[in-house]
Amino acid sequence: MSDKIISPKKDTINTSVINLEQARYWFILYKDTFVWIKNKDILVYNSKNCKSDLFKINDITTKVFEAFQDIHNLYCIELIDLENSIVQDIISRIERMDAGRLICQEKESLKPIVLPPILNFQPNLEVIENNEYSIIKGKAAHYLNEITLYLNKEDKLTRQLVHLDYTKLKENLSILPYSSVSNVNLYAKSITKYVYWEEILEFFANNNIEISINLRLKEIEDFHLMENNSFFNAITINIEVENGTEKDYRIALSKLKDKFQKINWRIFISEEQEYRQQEEIIKLLEQETYEFIPVFTGKNIAFFKENVYLTNNDLKDIEISRKDIFMNQVLNSNYFGKLTIMSNGKVYAGTQMPAIGTINDSVQELVYKELTQGKSWLRIRDMEPCCDCVYQWLCPPPSDYELIIGSPNLCDKIFT
Ligand code: SF4
Repeated sequence: MSDKIISPKKDTINTSVINLEQARYWFILYKDTFVWIKNKDILVYNSKNCKSDLFKINDITTKVFEAFQDIHNLYCIELIDLENSIVQDIISRIERMDAGRLICQEKESLKPIVLPPILNFQPNLEVIENNEYSIIKGKAAHYLNEITLYLNKEDKLTRQLVHLDYTKLKENLSILPYSSVSNVNLYAKSITKYVYWEEILEFFANNNIEISINLRLKEIEDFHLMENNSFFNAITINIEVENGTEKDYRIALSKLKDKFQKINWRIFISEEQEYRQQEEIIKLLEQETYEFIPVFTGKNIAFFKENVYLTNNDLKDIEISRKDIFMNQVLNSNYFGKLTIMSNGKVYAGTQMPAIGTINDSVQELVYKELTQGKSWLRIRDMEPCCDCVYQWLCPPPSDYELIIGSPNLCDKIFT
């Protein structure tokens, strides 16, 4: 691009290439506008109104947006040739998405200053980077926001139920009242057979921590037999459904709706037809709180490509806040702050990754280990091909699906 279109920084203007008779302009981007340049694309995203525009790279667009990315320019560049059609196109597209504007220097001679959106590292994360155990230890409780407990599970070999050790659990959970945990998920093969069920309910109720009980349709019979309990009002029941019939749903409702006010259906689907059937039933029963959860079977990649993978249109429609963009750059919100404790005592920060310890370790040690050596809480899109893609920080953080399917990017994007 010619130096006659965009001038260098104001204090180093090369007057030999500027036509002094031409009007001069400031071209600024607003503080909530992000610019990413990767490979053949330039993406501009306005995090205030969630509008984005993808520019193809050529000499002129590259020079304009690289100038914006130069921190010394403070999101303001000087334009001296508005005749160029590519520059005109950039200006009109930026103004159309309300991401910036052109200012004539006759009206504003002083260079405007805009602070570009740059990740300001939180002190907490610097502490993590420096592996400072003593400091992380003191803050461990604050990092936690969700706990999942598998109270009992059938051992595959012996077929016996293995129960979570409540004495050890209680020691570890004593940190919860001082933490940011507001919800605990409970799973059990047979909840009624968990010896400390009443104690657990009481512990969470006394500490004002909400609990969600996750039940499979066939476990409801057991649960229905439980005595009504004063804590039940505050409990959310998540009913997990696989290929449920209308009758299954009705039976579950008849057994639980008088006991619990909050019933949420978690419906697992692996095929399009299954999805349509289940949706028909849930609508017929006028249930309002439900979610469909795609399940990868190893044989339904076409279903995933059709329904889970991000298309180019999905990418254009992404709406994400400035705060969440920064968050995507440092941590994984799918996992961060969450611990899962299995009935055999193993503790996971992400269930598709190896255990980070056992219930015999303190919460402080577990949090420290995940923050310094773990692979879940801080798993971000810094791997190929995402690190070479302009949508790197707009896309949702990596999930279990990427690990189960074995692909780091669940999208249509093909890089050439
Ligand atoms: S998943 Fe990765 S490669 Fe695909 S659009 Fe998002 S960042 Fe780009």
